Amino acid sequence: MKKIQILLWLSVLFLCSSVWAHGKVGSVAKDENLNGVINFPDVKGRLTLISDLHTHSVFSDGHVWPNIRVAEATRNGLDVLAITEHLEYQPHIAQVPHKDRNSAFLEANNAAKGSSLIVLAGSEITRDMPPGHINAVFIKDANKLFNIDLPKNDKEKEILNKKIREMQWGAEPAIKEHYILSNMWPAEKAVEAANQQGAFLFWNHPDYYRQAPDGIARLQPMHRKMIDKGYLHGIEVVNGSTYSEEAFRIAIENNLALIGTSDVHDLIEWDYLTRAGEHRPVTLIFAKDRSKESIKEALFQRRTVIWFKEILIGKEDNLLPLLKSIISIESVGYGKGTQILTVIIKNNSSAKLQLKNQSRFTFLDNTNLIDLPGNDKIKLKIKTLKELDNLQLEFEVLNALITPGKNPRVIVSTKI
Ligand SMILES: [Zn+2]
Ligand SMILES: [Zn+2]
Repeated sequence: MKKIQILLWLSVLFLCSSVWAHGKVGSVAKDENLNGVINFPDVKGRLTLISDLHTHSVFSDGHVWPNIRVAEATRNGLDVLAITEHLEYQPHIAQVPHKDRNSAFLEANNAAKGSSLIVLAGSEITRDMPPGHINAVFIKDANKLFNIDLPKNDKEKEILNKKIREMQWGAEPAIKEHYILSNMWPAEKAVEAANQQGAFLFWNHPDYYRQAPDGIARLQPMHRKMIDKGYLHGIEVVNGSTYSEEAFRIAIENNLALIGTSDVHDLIEWDYLTRAGEHRPVTLIFAKDRSKESIKEALFQRRTVIWFKEILIGKEDNLLPLLKSIISIESVGYGKGTQILTVIIKNNSSAKLQLKNQSRFTFLDNTNLIDLPGNDKIKLKIKTLKELDNLQLEFEVLNALITPGKNPRVIVSTKI
């Protein structure tokens, strides 16, 4: 009898702990393939930190509690996560009332305690175009980034009601009213308030079809003013499943950081079949150390590379050192009595690389196109014609971009 009682108590305790354990992340399965773990090597003198700086939870229009975002990030091997709720679009405000707009961050930060994940405080400043949507991360207080002035008289009430009637999207009138009233506070003021908090700001999905029906990202005078003032520091070249070549050009021309994010609202597993090898878009940040200050410094210095689908996107200064760390030569040796050099080339990252041979040698078992799978190695048999002391190989990386039309070239060398 006693044993049964103890078992019953234990199961009650277990149930309670799983019910009450709102904050902490649940156990994470160890199988890296099942979890879709992303890994990239550090580059010379810097850590490569993997981030998703744009996600949502039930505290705006997402559909999960913030601890699920933390659990997903941990499973995917991310180092840095920001939950960036729409301050103005609050479709769940009746069901999830929260006066403090820092709530999602506080929940996520609590859930991440005890893990190595760094959670950044952030918000999505949500306006019609221009300026569209702008994320601010490293904020100090989300409550100061939005403002609602209630209508003071019948005339103002009528203007508000007309706007609600004209609004094409949104659900209940109360949600539309909240969005319209908060949108009446100028975007410039929200952007200025975020900058006063020392935040890093980037323009989200500038090609979003609802705000750019032709899908072309274009800087408008309001964006130019923000850039000139030093108020806008990055731009999403990648958002979810979309890529904007125009945003890539805008980033290069205006020295903005290249950002790629998931902007996930549901489950990462639903949007990306991680078990089949898919992954969310991430921004790699090259930081001096794992501190928030270093991450911030790296973002302000534009030290980022995006990994999107099978493509690496980054300015040459950032992408070349990364590629040099990703590709390494593990061993070299001549076959007995031949001038054929066998080289084991290793890929130290999750990113599959498509390489095009640009050196003077040809290969025995390969054409000039070589697939280097992620976290794997390949054997290359190189016809060097005579026995060499040093080997230098040059590859064009066909699935990496340093400008919208240009692939980087990487040189790998070793003593023989
Ligand atoms: Zn948005
Ligand atoms: Zn968003």
